[in-house]
Amino acid sequence: MADEQHKTNKSPHVLLFPFPAQGHMNPLIQFGKRLTSKGVKTTLITTKFISKSILSLNTTTNAIDIEAISDGFDEGGFLSADSSETYLETFHEVGLKSLGDMIKKLQSEGTKIDAIIYDTFITWALDVALENEIKCGAFFTQACSVNNIYYHVHKGLISVPLGSTVSVPGLPALEYWETPSFVHNLGPYPGWSEIVFNQFDNIDKARWVFTNTFYKLEEEVIEWMKKMWPLKVIGPTLPSMYLDKRLEDDKDYGINLVKANHSECMNWLNDKPKGSVVYVAFGSMAQLGPEQMEELACALRDSDANFMWVARTDEEEKLPKGFKENVNNEKGLLVAWCKQLDVLAHESVGCFVTHCGFNSTLEAVSLGVPVVAMPQWTDQTTNAKCLEDIWSVGVRVKVDDKGIVRRDNIVSCIKEIINGERGKIAQLNASRWKDLAKDAVDAGGSSDRDIDEFLAEV
Ligand code: UDP
Repeated sequence: MADEQHKTNKSPHVLLFPFPAQGHMNPLIQFGKRLTSKGVKTTLITTKFISKSILSLNTTTNAIDIEAISDGFDEGGFLSADSSETYLETFHEVGLKSLGDMIKKLQSEGTKIDAIIYDTFITWALDVALENEIKCGAFFTQACSVNNIYYHVHKGLISVPLGSTVSVPGLPALEYWETPSFVHNLGPYPGWSEIVFNQFDNIDKARWVFTNTFYKLEEEVIEWMKKMWPLKVIGPTLPSMYLDKRLEDDKDYGINLVKANHSECMNWLNDKPKGSVVYVAFGSMAQLGPEQMEELACALRDSDANFMWVARTDEEEKLPKGFKENVNNEKGLLVAWCKQLDVLAHESVGCFVTHCGFNSTLEAVSLGVPVVAMPQWTDQTTNAKCLEDIWSVGVRVKVDDKGIVRRDNIVSCIKEIINGERGKIAQLNASRWKDLAKDAVDAGGSSDRDIDEFLAEV
């Protein structure tokens, strides 16, 4: 049915433009699937490099078209740039022109474009849309709590680097180290900090502001944001089959930049007792130092629990000598990538040791899995605060003076979640959030209503 509607030129046509990285593409593509299921034609804009690297995009029923533009790194993408600063500058310069050309090409072919929804990490996309007289929606892929803090920095209401506690609307007072890393430690990533603070540069010109969260999860911050922008809260953007099950073919994110050995993971998990496995993953970008890798490896080896650890190929060389060779056994499984949703949804998983990227955070909350929060940088420190203190679904590790989390601490956090009282409370809360997440996206839920409101306007 959606496909049929998709083919008529009467359906609204929405372009979706995520920042070209897995963690940013997933939410926008999922949002696109929801729009498509409601009769909208959607087109994903991505870079030429990513469009060549996509391993699979479920285009059968979800029917998302792809248009590729240049980011200046058509052959090697982000990793082929000298630095993130070089990438971000080139992407701005080359991408801006390439996006404009692509829009003109579509229009000259008679393809109407009713709206562009851009990732707030790409503020220049809003300018291109408006130049071409296309309505534009800004899409935040990070938590409202995090954007709240960035907004205050942007407005000069918080001065960085922050060295003391801070209060912002809708959140409890935060220790400086609980704010995003760019706020309390300017660090070696000037390009990224500029991106997160500048998300608000031109946002007042956006016709809609979307955010991938759900109302109950961040109610107070959302109420504050609603006073400033035409906010549409449309998450969590997990595939429908993990939530409301209304989009029958929506079983995974549909786009994979890395291949997972799925059957190996599932077979291994199938053999383990309910709630006995610690799943450990740090997303697609975070890099642990060799010392931290060793502490984590020893903690997993020493803990009583079974574990599945995603150590990406680019991280593997930092594993302690001999660890990989000895680990793949009854107690432990080391993989380079997995289908995280299926792992988190598996009944044998009782604890998620996570870097607290916002997708992983939302996945843990929406699938009801208690966490050991081990944030590394960017928004993860604040997500970890929310997970432990606000949503009460887990515990945070403690870093020592060298910034390392020691093995004893990791072991005791895992124990607390798998066997302890805090684990029981975290599990109860996680189950409650799971129900609320499903309610939000189900027919008539808060996110579903916001999507319908957007559609009525587009
Ligand atoms: N992910 C996955 N398999 C893995 C590790 C991660 O599918 O082995 C997915 C995970 O489900 C999430 C995304 O990759 O949707 C990572 O996004 P997140 O925001 O958590 O972290 P980032 O990669 O942006 O740091």
